[in-house]
Amino acid sequence: MSLYEKLCDILGEKCVFADEPMSRHTTFRIGGPADYFAVPCDTEGVKKVIGLCKEEEVPYYILGNGSNLLVGDKGYRGVVIQIYKNMSGIHAEGNRIYAQAGALLSRIASEALSHSLKGFEFASGIPGTLGGAVMMNAGAYGGEMKQVLESVVVMTPEGEVKTLREDELELGYRTSIVAKKNYIVLEAVIRLEPGDAGDIRSYMEELKEKRVSKQPLEYPSAGSTFKRPEGYFAGRLIEDAGLRGFQVGNAQVSQKHCGFVINRGGATAAEVISLMEQVADKVEEVSGVRLEPEVKRIGEF
Ligand code: FAD
Repeated sequence: MSLYEKLCDILGEKCVFADEPMSRHTTFRIGGPADYFAVPCDTEGVKKVIGLCKEEEVPYYILGNGSNLLVGDKGYRGVVIQIYKNMSGIHAEGNRIYAQAGALLSRIASEALSHSLKGFEFASGIPGTLGGAVMMNAGAYGGEMKQVLESVVVMTPEGEVKTLREDELELGYRTSIVAKKNYIVLEAVIRLEPGDAGDIRSYMEELKEKRVSKQPLEYPSAGSTFKRPEGYFAGRLIEDAGLRGFQVGNAQVSQKHCGFVINRGGATAAEVISLMEQVADKVEEVSGVRLEPEVKRIGEF
């Protein structure tokens, strides 16, 4: 049996795709084909697919909403396992929200609002899944996942499922134990506080307006391209290096927010990488600070 047939055996034909263009699954709208694209709908499916990949010695990569990801133009040799809509259940009980890893942060924020729970507003405009957000300890406007996570259910690369408390997650700036140990996030418990629905809604709207006015949401991107160097803002360093609007092919440092690289239409991964390298070099030359990428890269460029 081919790998494709084995994957279909586990997940069913409707949940397995061959040569799937990754540009369809990343907010950058960039990326060549993944050899295989598998969309499990439960823990058992995830476990069997990673078990199969190990057996066949084929690499795999976990994908959420692809909002922090640059995939190479030649695509990914292996199996991309997408944990998104098929594993996105959410429900609230008391002050807690129980959500599967594929749930979008915006949907969790709406659930929190409908139960008058406050504390998740910061994440309402981050276009990722809960799994991607736990992995990155996503944060915005003074909030971060660390403040709201009570526990997370993960799968180890060996297929063991375990629950980690917040203090076991090693959440730091854009990092976690999930990133360090290649765990897969399956679900999480988010603990919030009772609040006033009107206040929660208006805070969410205020943050949305800030995003719309400051970020180039009208173009495909992967959010902040570089991590915030200690004591600086990446966007400001890029601006001060004279790189506002700097362009390589169709990849461009946003005119609106220098911290974002945008795809002006048809940009390639190679153009984005070349732009990022030139930006990092120039910023280092001008300020002495070396910018590190925040956006993850996979595949062949
Ligand atoms: P993906 O991009 O699919 O994956 C990112 C990483 O997470 C990969 O390494 C992947 O393997 C891993 N991953 C995904 N799902 C799982 C899982 N279930 N288990 C284990 N690992 C997993 N980020 C912020 O922190 N703050 C912001 O304010 C912010 N604003 C943004 C604005 C825009 C317009 C865009 C495009 C992006 C922004 N981002 C921001 C970046 C991004 O949305 C977050 O990093 C988000 O958490 C990524 O989630 P994702 O599901 O899209 O992950």
